[in-house]
Amino acid sequence: MSLSQGRPMVAIPGPSIIPDRVLSAMNRPMPNIYDGELLEISDSLLADLPTVARTSGHTFITVSNGHGAWAMALTNTLSRGDKVLVLESGRFAIGWGEMAQVSGVEMEVLAAESDRVPVDPAAVEERLRADTGHEIDAILCVQVDTANSVRNDIAAIGRAIESAGHPALFMVDCIASMGCEHFEMDDWGVDVTVAASQKGMMVPPGLGFVWANDKALAAHQNADLRSGYWDWTARMDHTAHYLRYAGTPPVQSIFGLREALDMIAEEGIENVWARHEVLAGAVREAVRTWATPGGFELNIGDPNAHANSTTTILTGSIDADRLRQVCSAEAGLTLGLGIGEYGGRAFRIGHMGHLNPPMILGTLGTIEASLAAMGAPTGGSGVAAAAGSVATAMKG
Ligand SMILES: *Cc1c(COP(=O)(O)O)cnc(C)c1O
Repeated sequence: MSLSQGRPMVAIPGPSIIPDRVLSAMNRPMPNIYDGELLEISDSLLADLPTVARTSGHTFITVSNGHGAWAMALTNTLSRGDKVLVLESGRFAIGWGEMAQVSGVEMEVLAAESDRVPVDPAAVEERLRADTGHEIDAILCVQVDTANSVRNDIAAIGRAIESAGHPALFMVDCIASMGCEHFEMDDWGVDVTVAASQKGMMVPPGLGFVWANDKALAAHQNADLRSGYWDWTARMDHTAHYLRYAGTPPVQSIFGLREALDMIAEEGIENVWARHEVLAGAVREAVRTWATPGGFELNIGDPNAHANSTTTILTGSIDADRLRQVCSAEAGLTLGLGIGEYGGRAFRIGHMGHLNPPMILGTLGTIEASLAAMGAPTGGSGVAAAAGSVATAMKG
């Protein structure tokens, strides 16, 4: 017998749970794409998206996943032979740099001390000060790495770049953090920000977002990686609406994103960030309580470097893949797998976007039941600890 009937719970770090309001908003017939409501909604998205990234810069929407948004950011600002400095912290910044390499951009990696710590802003400053000839054209960094669950201090890295007096573009991947983590593009000195629809933004996969400030738009003028499809200049030509998307607009996603942005505005973005912090804190309390020597452990120990959108849990002697299998087959809970070097020795809980205490405490309770069913050793009731931490937040 399996207990898995009921609404499935998918707690992976993207795609995240899509709100019913968003799904309903998308369930509409095709409208006129040359005139009327769709174009008004599309324009309203471009007007509202800067408030989510906290910028007065320009917003572009790609009809793509996050990798497409990566490509748009690179091809519009860089040239063959340019150099990017990748701030290593887990997997994804390196992946972005490798994409640049394919186009003939040189990549230098500022190596992380381990895959369990954030980028060190002092090391960034030191490297930039040594680059007296300004050979580095752009700095690539993630806010949250979805493999190891580290959160980088983007404000501190921005200050390090400023105090080194280095002119490189600061480009930040917020794909796993936009709509989850506090982010201030303009105040923190970020020139290009990249995100996608399917994580904290609560819309199915298929949209990417790129925000560019004036410095990035100036770099665009001399970029020779520009391509017809991704080109910012063409997309800023507002003589025809279809140019914004370089073709037919992503109709369903436009309706869905309008609803999701309304939900974020109704809650208030600061409250969205605070809710993520409370729910992520509950997950971390649970893991700390489950932890035993040789058993569970949070991958990120530094309390200032925990992502509030996803948690990577090392499982020690407990079989991570078996745990995921039991949760899924017996209880209808899908957990994230450990990726890259974490394969088989970690699992991940995604807690981004449309999430509340019943969802997160249900997830933790199901993990606890599955661990008990497996006879796995734990240090105590993680779900009780998590409920306590939610209670503290509820008391305010
Ligand atoms: C998910 C993710 C990506 C890749 O996004 P896709 O939509 O799968 O292309 C890139 N960077 C980070 C930090 C991510 O979490």
